[in-house]
Amino acid sequence: MNLQQRYPEQPVPDSRSPRLLIIAPHGSYRTAPFIRAAQQLGLDVLIASRGKHSIVSEYARGLQIDFGDEEAALQRILQVVAEQPFCGIIGTDDVSTVLASRVAEKLGLPHNPAEAVRIARRKDLARTRLQESGVNIPQFRLLDLNQPLAGQIQDIPFPAVVKPVALSASRGVIRVDTTQELMQAVARIQAILDGEVDIDPALCHSLLLEQFIPGREVAVEGILYEGEFTILSLFDKPDALDGPFFEETYYITPSSLATEVQQAIHATVQAACRAYGLREGPVHAECRVNEAGVWVLEVAARTIGGLCGQLIQFGLGISLEALVLAHAQGQRFEAANTGDAAGVLMIPIPAAGILKRVEGILAAQRVPLIEEVNIQIRDGYELVPLPESGSYLGFIFARGPTNAAVEAALRQAHACLNIVVGPLWKVQI
Ligand code: ADP
Ligand code: CA
Repeated sequence: MNLQQRYPEQPVPDSRSPRLLIIAPHGSYRTAPFIRAAQQLGLDVLIASRGKHSIVSEYARGLQIDFGDEEAALQRILQVVAEQPFCGIIGTDDVSTVLASRVAEKLGLPHNPAEAVRIARRKDLARTRLQESGVNIPQFRLLDLNQPLAGQIQDIPFPAVVKPVALSASRGVIRVDTTQELMQAVARIQAILDGEVDIDPALCHSLLLEQFIPGREVAVEGILYEGEFTILSLFDKPDALDGPFFEETYYITPSSLATEVQQAIHATVQAACRAYGLREGPVHAECRVNEAGVWVLEVAARTIGGLCGQLIQFGLGISLEALVLAHAQGQRFEAANTGDAAGVLMIPIPAAGILKRVEGILAAQRVPLIEEVNIQIRDGYELVPLPESGSYLGFIFARGPTNAAVEAALRQAHACLNIVVGPLWKVQI
């Protein structure tokens, strides 16, 4: 590893037990990879989350906070950090990035301006800012759910996409082709928002309605150092994502797009970061590309997270989380690409119900180039597909000489799986 020390003016962390603060929503799939990376670096971890006890108490200590009350959560964390030095602060998910940047600012650790993170996290504010800055985005408008909808949707050009302003993982993102579909989608998203606990209730009364952008979609994983954006991995999403729901499936890197298009994607994401005011740390972006150019769908100030970070490790020889931890401590990693192609299939949930079993895992693992088949949901648990839930059944990873070979291996491995789903009977009392 080549770690360069930046920020020399920073206080030297307590060398006896450098501690890392991870601020994460309860049950986040981003937490475990960060804990693993921290352990490898010998860092002691404190996790601030909702819930009294840390679910990973053998590995890390827990601090209870309420994401719905940011000021109280900030005060609680500042009390704790006043007692012992912290060498880095990580906000894992959209609900914790603003809080993390406020804590890091107080401690003089690398951070984004809280306002920039707030804009990135709120789809409505983000769209407005990008529009003002001339970044290419779909036409959009906000729907106020407290007002009658009829007057707000009279002249909508279809197809359109309707989405919550502060959820992620494509939850509640629905393509609509008619007014009737739009009304149904709005009711469905409202029901999802009514069940959310980690979200500010004030954000549950408006929805973003935007023009559907056709084209190829890419995901961009990158990192900002002092305002300069570096792409770590550019992923093609080879399946058409035309809706009505937008389930992530294949991510394949390196991208097969022409170099000029890749440069345009880099420039577009860099422009979006500048527009928001983001300067430091991980960036996960999604763009669509068509004959009209590169369109920004989303630029988030966090990692893609979960097991997908492994793909970065295949390409760069260091895990995404280790890279982000280094950044959080003021260190810069100069990544050298290994040249391997790599890919993941986020295994889609085929139907709602109870997972009975997944057959064919061994056969899938034996497909050449397959690195790992990881089923995340245990037999007997409920499967909830999009748009209500953004979780996956599991992941299949592949690594090989070319992106085409990797994609073919993933498709072949997926075809080996037989996912047996039984009906779910809910007892009404
Ligand atoms: P989330 O933050 O929940 O991931 P996004 O805004 O990124 O929500 O949307 C999720 C997915 O929905 C995108 O990756 C894309 O496939 C699709 N999508 C969202 N907005 C549009 C749009 N305006 N046009 C076409 N597809 C869209
Ligand atoms: Ca997204």
